[in-house]
Amino acid sequence: MSTTSVRTRFAPSPTGFFHIGSARTALFNWLYARHTGGTFILRIEDTDKERNSEEYLRVIYDSLKWLGMDWDEGPGAGGASGPYKQSERSDIYREYLKKLQSTGRTYEKEGAIWFRLEGERQNIREKYKDGDRLIEREIERVKAAPVLIHDVIRGDVTRAEDRDFVLVRANGEPGFHFVNVVDDITMGITHVIRGEDHLSNTSKHIELYKAFGVTPPIFAHIPLILKGDGKGKMSKRDRGALIEEYQTRHFLPEAVRNFLCLLGWTPADGREILPIADVIAQFELTAVHQANARFDERKMSFLNQQYVRALPPEVFALKAEAVLRAAGIVDDKTSRALLQSVFSLIQEKVSGLENAPALAGYFFKEDFDFDPKVHESLVKKDIPGQRVAELLPRLEGLESFEDALVDAAIVETATEHGVKPVAYYAPLRFALSGTGGGPHLNAILRVLGREKVLERARRFVENSKK
Ligand code: GLU
Repeated sequence: MSTTSVRTRFAPSPTGFFHIGSARTALFNWLYARHTGGTFILRIEDTDKERNSEEYLRVIYDSLKWLGMDWDEGPGAGGASGPYKQSERSDIYREYLKKLQSTGRTYEKEGAIWFRLEGERQNIREKYKDGDRLIEREIERVKAAPVLIHDVIRGDVTRAEDRDFVLVRANGEPGFHFVNVVDDITMGITHVIRGEDHLSNTSKHIELYKAFGVTPPIFAHIPLILKGDGKGKMSKRDRGALIEEYQTRHFLPEAVRNFLCLLGWTPADGREILPIADVIAQFELTAVHQANARFDERKMSFLNQQYVRALPPEVFALKAEAVLRAAGIVDDKTSRALLQSVFSLIQEKVSGLENAPALAGYFFKEDFDFDPKVHESLVKKDIPGQRVAELLPRLEGLESFEDALVDAAIVETATEHGVKPVAYYAPLRFALSGTGGGPHLNAILRVLGREKVLERARRFVENSKK
């Protein structure tokens, strides 16, 4: 018995920034190759010279690496089926064009080379609107036998092609269908896993395989990703559509990758958060959903939050420090001890690393912002400046800010003024941090230390009088 090992490929065209749909296609190809112990190939479909750019190419490499999808063959990795950029494969295309020409299935028209479908031909008159004008023209239609596509995900789909298509354009550049199929043949691709928007191309591709006398690969067309509201396909302009956005917002790549896994696939045990090794162990193309996936921004943020909170504390500290440095909040002069205590306080509170500056900034600088919304809600209920003023003498009288001492000071002040202790929590928190949430109030006092706490409380009281 002979078994062919699986060869999948991700074949992006570097014509735009890296979209989550592309990332998900790459991921499913990578997962299937890793699941089967096969080979994952990166091929750059850059035949359309005018629309390709070096920058977009770099974004593809960076994004794949960031998401931990290593390719076994492709640019930078080498491999026996190279070169892996279509712009460098002209010799191969010339050779394969000759093969097709020798079958008599090609012809020239208006400078382009066309693929001729087999079937009865008839000329029909077609009317179409071009703006306000109604145009009538004569076109040739072919009654070709329907092509059966056995799709692993969609099941059997039949499509009939009714028009010849271009192999090589009039400007000499080979066309998409031709190079795509030639590359899949010459690279020994066993499974073509791609977006459902390509299903309409697959019948043309199968016609080409037949003409070459080659058995087509297995096709798996993965469902589209719809916008959060389900209204239409996710586009480049939608928030959350570009991988770059997650990088600049300091999302963890493991979280983004986990999220992408769930766009059209669910693990058998229904877990939402699972290590990539478990996904690799379970991932089958037959389990990919037929129904369109929906982009759920809140789920993405939730997964990211869970991953950040689960980081080993020392890893979290490193990452959070990098984010705070980039935001200009800490530098080489910042005390290591202070950094350590702040990070151990905030890790369980962060919604993501991007929110570390807001959550931790006030520990490191005196000119932190006071959240106007929190201020507004405080003054609606009470007079925060006055509460802090009432508390201040007792705080000044404390030798240290041990939790029990601070709590007692608050209780005594509350009794004296005939209110509940809780009346002091929010005003004091606001005075010290400018926020309405975050770590436990006692912890804030402990980490800030006596001097800063008293200084901030006094300043708050003064400013409240203005
Ligand atoms: N270059 C095509 C694209 O970016 C890929 C086609 C394929 O995967 O077969 O959509």
